[in-house]
Amino acid sequence: MLTSINSAAPLRRLSLALAAVLAVLAPYSAARAAEPVVVATIKPLHALVAQVMAGVGEPDLLVGGTASPHTFALKPSDARKIAHASLVFRISEATEPFTAKIAAQLPKGARLVTLFSARGIAALPRREGGAFEEHVHGAHETSQDHVAHGGADGHVWLDPVNAAFMLDAIAEALAVDAPHHAAAYRANADAAKVRLAALTQSLAAELAPVAGRSFILFHDATQYFERRFGLAAAGAITTDPDIPASGKRLSALRAKVARSGVACVFSEPNFEGKVVATVTEGSKARTAVLDPEGALLPPGPEHYDALLRAMAKAFKQCLAP
Ligand SMILES: [Zn+2]
Repeated sequence: MLTSINSAAPLRRLSLALAAVLAVLAPYSAARAAEPVVVATIKPLHALVAQVMAGVGEPDLLVGGTASPHTFALKPSDARKIAHASLVFRISEATEPFTAKIAAQLPKGARLVTLFSARGIAALPRREGGAFEEHVHGAHETSQDHVAHGGADGHVWLDPVNAAFMLDAIAEALAVDAPHHAAAYRANADAAKVRLAALTQSLAAELAPVAGRSFILFHDATQYFERRFGLAAAGAITTDPDIPASGKRLSALRAKVARSGVACVFSEPNFEGKVVATVTEGSKARTAVLDPEGALLPPGPEHYDALLRAMAKAFKQCLAP
């Protein structure tokens, strides 16, 4: 008994010393943890996060330039961003296969937030049948996340109503990291939602005249936008942008465009326009570039609204009677 008391004394002195050291360090580590270091994957999502953080901080962007989230690979500079992040926002692993590795690279206590699963978002299944058939199974489709989502279409950000739910989820996630900014995040998200609702109304009015006009997409990315604004694609050239469309598929699409009243066939900045020329051969269909991932638009808080405007403009011009 005596020995145990004697050995406990130095231990208690040590723990008191340790407590004193920790007490000195605590304010520093608390201050460091208080300002979240935020990273977002794609430009439209980065824009929404930037809007919520306005006046408080700025998020870092991973998929910049004209890169596609479906084919992006993390560079060493991206790995460094992730290694210092406290919060990483992504859409989903199925849409952004490169994010599969992020969770393992995050520092202890940092979080990866998947906006696809944000409260309120109604996911749509990937389109199949008609010109959406030939559901090719690409590499990223075997991911856990894709299976969990049952083949859902990951391009949820293209419905501004979903973006409003994402703004709420972003504000909540940030508030967990920095409760002292919670009110600012909340106010920013609410203001962004008001602006977004007004923009949605004006775009709906702009697109009403071309509702029901037929078009072919390059990759099946825009059904969330279509549903919101009364549009409906007749098909897509490829269901998986990683895999080039087969010759058989292209001739089937060309026949469809030639015989039915397809007004427009869209290409995309990331993918070669040659196949679009093949598909529109012998028809009166127009062609235009559609940029559902915002590849051609600069990043920043304005990016999201600019993306919706650019999409509306492309549809309106290419589908005009
Ligand atoms: Zn896509």
